[in-house]
Amino acid sequence: MRVLAILLAGLALAASASAASKSEPRRPVEISYLGNAGWQVTDRRVVILVDPYLSEFRHNAPTEQMTEDDPLVEPDPPSIDAHIGRADYILITHGHEDHMLDAPYISKKTGAVIICTESAANIARASGVGEVFDPQHVDLKRISRQPLIVVRGGEDFQFANFSLEVIPSLHSALFDKRYNDGFWAASTPPGLTAPLRESDYKEGGTLMYLLRIAGHRILIMGSMNYIERNIAGLRPDIAIVGAGTDRNQLYRYTERLMRALGKPSVVFPTHWDDYGTKPRADALEQVGTFVAEVHAAAPKTRVIVPAYFIPTTLP
Ligand SMILES: [Zn+2]
Repeated sequence: MRVLAILLAGLALAASASAASKSEPRRPVEISYLGNAGWQVTDRRVVILVDPYLSEFRHNAPTEQMTEDDPLVEPDPPSIDAHIGRADYILITHGHEDHMLDAPYISKKTGAVIICTESAANIARASGVGEVFDPQHVDLKRISRQPLIVVRGGEDFQFANFSLEVIPSLHSALFDKRYNDGFWAASTPPGLTAPLRESDYKEGGTLMYLLRIAGHRILIMGSMNYIERNIAGLRPDIAIVGAGTDRNQLYRYTERLMRALGKPSVVFPTHWDDYGTKPRADALEQVGTFVAEVHAAAPKTRVIVPAYFIPTTLP
């Protein structure tokens, strides 16, 4: 009986997977820029956030990047509440503060499931998201209701209204390519409790996502780096691409990326606003150099630099 149930469940899964693999009729998606590497993607059925960092907009935000290890790194609820009502899933590209700080607060507020690495999940657990199970008394029903899905890269998951491929990637080559020689590149261990220090928000590995939703294929990056062989042939129609200055550490960053992706119809630059610490005009001038690179590499690609929180609807 148990074998039959498993077989039937397997058949049902196979049927839903084959239905999902047929190309879904295209419907509009709305894409909104939330600052830094943060985005909201919705087809009006499901709301998916990426690296939300609304705390960038906190009142009295620092005007330059901090170099101290601030022990009171906490999300800013007024900035988050002003823009985030509903969320179903939160995709995290890596664990640094400017990608992971707001996710636990948003998950607790909305019930959104955070999809992230084990290291970033340890940050979420430190803020009370997800249970830490006693190995002596594991409750399987509770595990499947956890607001955390821990991924490693390589997964290709089917959800009710979308599917999600998780793609192993690399962090930006900060500090003139010496980034990996520092605590930032390590992993956050289990067992911490909030408030965390800035140095607790370790990278813990970097991921990209290919989100298939409403007949669209949306490639999502959260930093200025990629593994070309992992993205070649993905053919997204929309790509959210790291556009900060650290891209210049890479060999022909924009050209190789556009070619590998098959020159997507639409590109949104991400992670270019310097947390609002630079004058806006300077940030816009810098992102303009990225826009020019895309135009040179993929003349038919439309590059959209959206204003904060104003949705772009793509049919
Ligand atoms: Zn980072």
